Order: sequence, then structure tokens, then C-alpha cells
Amino acid sequence: MRAQGLSLVIAALVAWPGAVAQGPPLSELTKSFVSVDAQVVALTHVTVIDGTGAGPKADQTVVISNGRISAVGPFASVNIPANATVLDRSGHTVIPGLVGMHDHTFYTNSAGRRAQLNTSAPRLYLAAGVTSIRTTGSISPYAEISLKDQIEKGKVPGPRMHISGPYLTGPDDVVERMHITTPEQARRVVNYWADEGATWFKVYTEISRANLRAITDAAHKRGVKVTGHLCSVGYKEAVEAGIDALEHGLMANLEYVPGKQPDACPAMDRATYLALDVNGPRAQETFKAMVAKGVPMTSTLAVYEISIPNRPPLDQRVLDAMSTDVRAEYVATRERLAANAANNPSLAMLKKAMEYELAFVKAGGTLAAGVDPTGNGGALPGYGDQRNYELLIEAGFQPGQVVQIMSANGAKVLGQKDLGTVQNGKIADLVLLRGDLAANPVAIRNVVTVFKDGRGFDAPKLIESVKGLVGIR
Ligand SMILES: [Zn+2]
Repeated sequence: MRAQGLSLVIAALVAWPGAVAQGPPLSELTKSFVSVDAQVVALTHVTVIDGTGAGPKADQTVVISNGRISAVGPFASVNIPANATVLDRSGHTVIPGLVGMHDHTFYTNSAGRRAQLNTSAPRLYLAAGVTSIRTTGSISPYAEISLKDQIEKGKVPGPRMHISGPYLTGPDDVVERMHITTPEQARRVVNYWADEGATWFKVYTEISRANLRAITDAAHKRGVKVTGHLCSVGYKEAVEAGIDALEHGLMANLEYVPGKQPDACPAMDRATYLALDVNGPRAQETFKAMVAKGVPMTSTLAVYEISIPNRPPLDQRVLDAMSTDVRAEYVATRERLAANAANNPSLAMLKKAMEYELAFVKAGGTLAAGVDPTGNGGALPGYGDQRNYELLIEAGFQPGQVVQIMSANGAKVLGQKDLGTVQNGKIADLVLLRGDLAANPVAIRNVVTVFKDGRGFDAPKLIESVKGLVGIR
């Protein structure tokens, strides 16, 4: 009874005019990044791309009340509550908070650097408009569990986090992954990390079919899901073995390599892959198997693009975020790629990967997206997610579809019914961008304010706070 009385008092406080938005109480540090914190906020005269797949709608009003979206529609027809803080944002676009489905909290590059980024990654994700992440493979699961806890308690700024256990693979030479050799071990590891708070596992390139099956069985018994960056197991085999999602699209599905042996990871056969007809029977069989079991695919075009000479165009924001050494390594990598541009097959492969993703969606598949801040180190947390927007447009998707892929589809895969779209009743995770995103994809970079639980975070201030930290912390 006492607890009930207390919650009534709290409810009364929250409803008091002038009270702050919903969400946890914030530390002084987190508060220092908040620029909009009112119980009721109306963003007026904005263009909305709502995440349902619909196209842009001009001159809209979005009302946020107590951390939720309470109204969205044409300026002329939405009633603005008398107690609202009204922000006229004509010339701006509002999209749902992005859901980054391959958004590690660590960083690697091709110079051998590997760093857990518990300070810079969460701030860069949030600043870029990514309000939810699935870490999709962890090299420091405890660091992620602690970070998630700190964010949920308002101690540090960052996105909502869906935590993974360690990478689960077969024998390889990489020390930071778990080498699973028996189904018994697989079950033990899954149960251990499920107890500690992992809600997803990521299987990696050397996993065997038998161990994958043990992992999915054990995980599903715990209500935990499994995704994979595969090689030894093809997509159709993985779907058969109960996998819940597949990462990276075409380049991680080696089932089309001629003569592929079961449980063996073959080299990429570029000639076969470049000739693959994405509307032909082989690709369509894969899509059919995935769609039948509701298995989504995560697009990670930004991490593939960085292998292409002179792509993406050098981005000063990326250089500024990097530590001095990491910046030098990245610039050297770019110069090396540019010097060997004539023989680089990456652009043709990227185009084929784009075709594959477009065909998957056309076949009824659920495509989500994430950055994967690894590879040669040029796709950073948040900035790489934004680059995915531009690349999915380049792939041939419409702006409304791309927003859906990057928000609602991720929320659906994560089972987050209250997130992912700009619709009445949803949690107010929103991104306010300067410019007309539908007309100009680069506007995805112009994040002004990122709302999480209805609180507006100052994107430039978050970015400023982590200058020079990528590669360090
Ligand atoms: Zn990854």
C-alpha cells in the first residue's frame, strides 16, 4: 500500500505543469547535453518522414507530451496544448530515432587497433540520431552491460542498448572471440551470458552447423536471439538451424561459392558473385527461406564502402573524432587504397550487394541497417549509420523506405513496439535535422536535436565532447 501511495505522489509530480520530460533522472553530466527538457513540446512547420515507409509530409506539427508523441499531423489541424514549449522548426525534417542494428561499442581498424569506446561510441551514436543500438557482437560484454546500466540510470548520455554476449565462432586465431568446439560448451556459454543480461548472440564466420543449432536451441529457451556474420554456414543452412537474423547481406552469404564444403568457410569467389542474378533462382531461394521464417537481414553498406578507393569522400567530422594516431592510420589506409585503385574490385561488389538488398526487400524481406565500426576504421559509430542512409538511397530505395529500414524495421526486429515511427502514442525518440532530407540525402548529417524519451539532446555539443577520442576511449 505504501508503494502505491508513493507512485501516486510521483505521478502527480510528473503531471505538474513545467515538470521535465519522462525518462530517468539525469546526472549533471548527462543534463549538460540536454537542450530541450519540457513536459510538452511542439515542433511546428517541420517535414516528417515517419518511418512507416510513407513519403515526406510537409508543414507538420509533432507534439511530445511526457516523453511520448501525443499528436502528429498538418500544422493547420493539430491542436497545440496551451502549456507546450513551441519550437518553430521550418526548414527542418523530423524522422524517428534510428535503430542501429550492427552498432558495436568497440572500434577496430586495419592497422591492428582495437579499442572499447565506452565514452565516444554512445555519444556519437546519440549525436548522429541513433537512439537504439544492438551491439551485435561484443569484445567486452561486461563493459557493455555496465554502459547500458549507466545510460538507463541517466548517468551518461547514450542510446538504448541491446547487449550481445561474446562472438561465438569455431577455431580461428582471434583471441577476443569465443571458440566454440562442442554443443555442450555452446549451451554453457549461452546460458552464462543470458544470465548476465545478453539478449542477443552473434555467431561468427567459423561456426559449425551443429554448434549453431546448439546455440539457437539454448538461446531460444532463454528468450534470447541469435544473429550471425556467417561464412562456414550458408544463409539457407542458418535459417534451417534456427537463426533469428543475418548480418551483412550478400558478402557474408558464401552459399553461392561453387563447390562450397559443409562447415568450411571458402574464399569469396568474386566472378560468381558479380555474375549472380539477384532475381534468379539461387538468390530467390535464399530470400524465400528467410521470408518464410521471418528472418531479417542487416545492411552494413558503410563498412563495405570504405574498401573502395576514395570513398566515402573524406569527411572532416570523421577525422576530428579520431585520435591523432588513428587519423594517421586512416589517412594512410585511404592513400594505399587510392594508389591501387585500378585493381580494386570493391565498387562492383558493393553495387552487387546493393542489388541483393533491394531484391530481398522486393521479395518481402525485412531489411534493417547498422554501421559496424570495424573494417579499415573509416565507418565511425553514428557517422557510419548516417552514411548508410546515403548508400541505401544510392542503392535505389526511396527516402521513406530508407527511414523505415533504419528505424521501424530495427525496432521490429528488436521487438520494440513503442519505438521506430513518428506516430501518436509512440515513445518520443526523434531526430530533428536541418534541411529537406527527402530532397537532399546529405541532410542526414545535419542533426540538430535528438529526442530520447522526449528529452532533446544537443547533437553538436555531444560531438564536441568526444573530439579526438575514437581509438582511445
Ligand atoms: Zn560486426
